Amino acid sequence: MSKTALITGLTGQDGSYLAELLLEKEYKVYGLVRRSSTNNLTRIHHYSDRVELISGDLLDQHSLMDAIEQAQPDELYNLASQSYVPLSWTQPSLTAEYTAIGVSRLLESIRRVKPDTKFYQASSSEVFGQPDESPQTEKTAFRPRNPYGTSKAYAHWLTCNYREHYNLYACCGITYTHESPRRGAEFVFRKITQGAAMIKLGLAKELKLGNLDARRDWCHAKDAVAAMCLMLQQDTPEDYIIGSGKTHSVRELVDTAFQYVGLNYHDYVSVDPEFYRPDEAVQLVGSIEEIKLQLGWEPKYTFADLVQEMVDYDLKELHENRL
Ligand code: NAP
Repeated sequence: MSKTALITGLTGQDGSYLAELLLEKEYKVYGLVRRSSTNNLTRIHHYSDRVELISGDLLDQHSLMDAIEQAQPDELYNLASQSYVPLSWTQPSLTAEYTAIGVSRLLESIRRVKPDTKFYQASSSEVFGQPDESPQTEKTAFRPRNPYGTSKAYAHWLTCNYREHYNLYACCGITYTHESPRRGAEFVFRKITQGAAMIKLGLAKELKLGNLDARRDWCHAKDAVAAMCLMLQQDTPEDYIIGSGKTHSVRELVDTAFQYVGLNYHDYVSVDPEFYRPDEAVQLVGSIEEIKLQLGWEPKYTFADLVQEMVDYDLKELHENRL
């Protein structure tokens, strides 16, 4: 019999890929979507007739209970949050409302309405902040360094607490940065692929960036959502690190993207002190040994695949809409 999933954050990068994956697996998919005065369904427009949209908001407990009542999900993936770290400094209370207390509302709703729902919480490597070891594992201590990471740490521990106290099937995927052509333009990976495409097409002359030697653990969003789905297919809930297990520098990313469009980045990229952040004392990079061992998951896309897919997408999109 086919399963039913409810996804919060359906309209975001991960939600849109996860829904696609679950539709391929013949799930009945419901998405919790908040009202917007403009169209926020652009990432799912190609299959929006195959998913059921339920109006709701992480800020509103009743809407969450009603959504679970209506969907009767076997699996609930909480991918909704205020997901942009810099904004969490200017809107710390709202970030906590969405990203921390919103999870409390969801877990309470599951417990009261359908406690046999399997629950996935989108945790983040930002919970480690300035970690005392590298690579980080599922056992590394949390030391978040911004309101976003602090809210995610609350949500993470609350999910573990509900698992232990109420015996819910609830687990957290601690994801490192993951990207795709559906990534928001404010994130550095997308800024670079878009920047290279714009310069190639003559739509921009330069690209200003921060610290080119900063290193990140980047993987493809499609790989990340495959891991999330796998985590809810087990007999017992476990938390896992989800990442590439490797780091690449911003410089490597810039070089790969510009080389791909036949340009030398030295001619176009400058370092702007406004965006500059010093190197981290300890690298944020996840050990994916546990998820490999227990679930047999590992990323399928390489770093170069990801850069090329995003540059190709940006070239096509700019060509169609800006030229
Ligand atoms: P995203 O593209 O920013 O999408 C966020 C989603 O949350 C959107 O669908 C948004 O809806 C929804 N949302 C925000 N506030 C809401 C609210 N109050 N009620 C209901 N929905 C709300 O994020 P993403 O990249 O897909 O990330 C998915 C999850 O993974 C997030 O929890 C994020 O924090 C976490 N994460 C992401 C990364 C990454 O590299 N992408 C890394 C670590 C963790 P609208 O369309 O209406 O704005």
